[in-house]
Amino acid sequence: MLQVLRRGKQLADYRGLVREELLEEIRALGRELTGVRVLELNAGLRGGVAEMLLSLVPLLRDVGVQADWGVLPGDEEFFQVTKSFHNALQGREYSLTARDRRIYLQTNRRLAKRLPSGYEVVIVHDPQPAAVRHLAGPRRARWIWRCHIDTSRPEPSVWEFLRPLIEEYDAAIFTLPSYVPSGLAGPALFFIPPAIDPLSAKNRPLPSEICRQLVGEFGLDPDRPFLLQVSRFDPWKDPLGVIRAYRQVKKQRPEVQLALVGSMAYDDPEAWGLYQEVRREAERDPDLYVLSNLEGVGTLEVNAFQRTCTVAIQKSLREGFGLTVSEALWKGKPVVAGRTGGIPAQVEDGVHGFLVESVEECSTRLLELLASPDEAAAMGARGHERVREHFLLPRLLRDELRAIKAVLTES
Ligand code: UDP
Repeated sequence: MLQVLRRGKQLADYRGLVREELLEEIRALGRELTGVRVLELNAGLRGGVAEMLLSLVPLLRDVGVQADWGVLPGDEEFFQVTKSFHNALQGREYSLTARDRRIYLQTNRRLAKRLPSGYEVVIVHDPQPAAVRHLAGPRRARWIWRCHIDTSRPEPSVWEFLRPLIEEYDAAIFTLPSYVPSGLAGPALFFIPPAIDPLSAKNRPLPSEICRQLVGEFGLDPDRPFLLQVSRFDPWKDPLGVIRAYRQVKKQRPEVQLALVGSMAYDDPEAWGLYQEVRREAERDPDLYVLSNLEGVGTLEVNAFQRTCTVAIQKSLREGFGLTVSEALWKGKPVVAGRTGGIPAQVEDGVHGFLVESVEECSTRLLELLASPDEAAAMGARGHERVREHFLLPRLLRDELRAIKAVLTES
């Protein structure tokens, strides 16, 4: 298990960003839970979950909880299997094989053997390390499974394999009540939407001149409108659909540019094929930019892109939550996004942007926003306030502390 330790974040830094009562409630919970040993366990160093833990774990420590963060080391084979599980749990057809089980359990068993003991609460994120609870035994800890994906309609063979493993947990946290798969019995249920950190390099305020400069360094013209989708290269994020919508827009607004920004990760083998496909599309179009960490786009650059774009897109076909939506709204950008998963909880249709279900709808809404900058700005401003109220890190911290307290009280 690889331990990640990030120091220096403090709850006090969030004063002025969220309501003082919320900070007070967090401090009170922290006092009650001072010294409690909590382990957060996930797999993979990129994507939304890692992004959140990077901020959440140091804040848990700041308020008194003895939180650690461990990452499950896996190899390519393992991540291939867990990516299939992830897709199957989100509803893609699949047929679980004996080989899948073997590879999945082997890596989980290795982790279970090396799992440090002495924790009172272990929070396991997503399906990748979910079998650790079964394989490590209870160890006098309270176990929480934190599911970040949309498991409302899971593929049966994968779900029936994982279900008994998850039923051994004391509690399960889902983003939305509708995500609880049918037949799950046992764990106490909590519903907690994720959140973004307004003080991370990804979201902190950045002077617009620096943003424009950064974007310009990747070839985009910051004086021309540009559309942006920030996402892994994953079929559920529908980058090819985004390109089709952009092509429609471009027929009427030839000055528009599109940037698809996505990080490439070793634990996402499927991404490479799609990345290449998307790159081929970009070769024929000088206004279509496909950028990733390979080209040097890091968190600060993502921040700059989100702050400089005209409209943010998140045209997902399935989406656990879609942190990128809150990230863009926080930066005052209207978002055109798929009507799926956790997105409607963030974007109210016509208020903070638009919810769409097809390429045509997407391009129509993009054209509408490009034609009405005032409306776009008003939507972005409302989105910023919505995120402040519901989707900033201190609210997530409060909810997680409540869940920790609840599982400890029940034991
Ligand atoms: N992200 C990033 N660089 C990229 C693509 C994504 O930093 O090139 C970040 C993005 O800003 C967000 C997270 O990765 O914070 C993705 O979370 P989301 O919930 O949108 O999707 P997931 O990848 O978890 O399905």
